[in-house]
Amino acid sequence: MSENGASDYLVVGAGAMGMAFTDVLMNETEATVTIVDRHGRPGGHWNDSYPFVRLHQPSSFYGVNSRALGTNQKDSVGLNAGLYELASGSEVVTYFDQVMNQQLLPTGRVKYLPMCEYIGNGTVKNLVSGVETHLEAKKTVDATYMNVTVPSVTTPSYKVSEGITCIPHCWSSDILLSATLQLVSCIPSIPYIEYCTLETPLRTSVCQDRIKVVDGYVEIPDRPGIGVQLNEETLKSYFYNP
Ligand SMILES: Cc1cc2nc3c(=O)[nH]c(=O)nc-3n(C[C@H](O)[C@H](O)[C@H](O)COP(=O)(O)OP(=O)(O)OC[C@H]3O[C@@H](n4cnc5c(N)ncnc54)[C@H](O)[C@@H]3O)c2cc1C
Repeated sequence: MSENGASDYLVVGAGAMGMAFTDVLMNETEATVTIVDRHGRPGGHWNDSYPFVRLHQPSSFYGVNSRALGTNQKDSVGLNAGLYELASGSEVVTYFDQVMNQQLLPTGRVKYLPMCEYIGNGTVKNLVSGVETHLEAKKTVDATYMNVTVPSVTTPSYKVSEGITCIPHCWSSDILLSATLQLVSCIPSIPYIEYCTLETPLRTSVCQDRIKVVDGYVEIPDRPGIGVQLNEETLKSYFYNP
């Protein structure tokens, strides 16, 4: 890093791409890098992914060149039994945090600006203070090019007019019905839901208690969590054994 804060590369995005690019620069060149990202931690969209999302490929094929993700073990239980481990979202975020704090920053050639948005022409805006700063760099690298989107941080692609009545559709097990009931019970403007009343195994045997209709109204299940207790015996009969 030069005395005036100028760097060889300004990398926009501390996701998998920006981190992998910077890692190679640190290991194969003498270059200096400033990394800017809107998120408060490295790891890109994995900061926003839903907790049940894991890698769909073995951990050992993911991440930066200089550091392994995971321990290259085969899972012995669960749906992935017999196959190489798939890191969870939180493992991926922890991994990139370690790459940043234990490898990139200690080189002294990387400057990391979290919670800062690149707004073009070398200018970044601090999302906490609102202060804009111009950064000098010989090259600007757009590591946001894949434009990954995660539904949890994306606005719907359609508009909903004022005063529209929303009637949720939840057509399968009492798990979905109970989760939907918990949500709609918090939204007074939803008068009805649409759900399956057929006596199918999905409706009758996946949960221990049946959801009741009392005086024409569906009762909101009040057990902890989403309100249902799973029927383990039924679930065992559906286990997938590869
Ligand atoms: C749920 C999910 C699961 C996936 N699973 C796999 C998998 O198993 N294996 C695989 O190979 N790929 C997987 N992918 C593909 C994934 O897109 C890539 O693996 C990789 O994480 C993408 O990294 P990225 O750096 O391109 O993007 P991102 O992770 O989106 O990082 C881009 C970063 O740029 C920042 N940014 C954007 N614009 C600006 C700006 N103007 N100023 C400052 N910062 C900005 C964002 O805040 C973000 O942190 C998955 C994708 C998703 C959504």
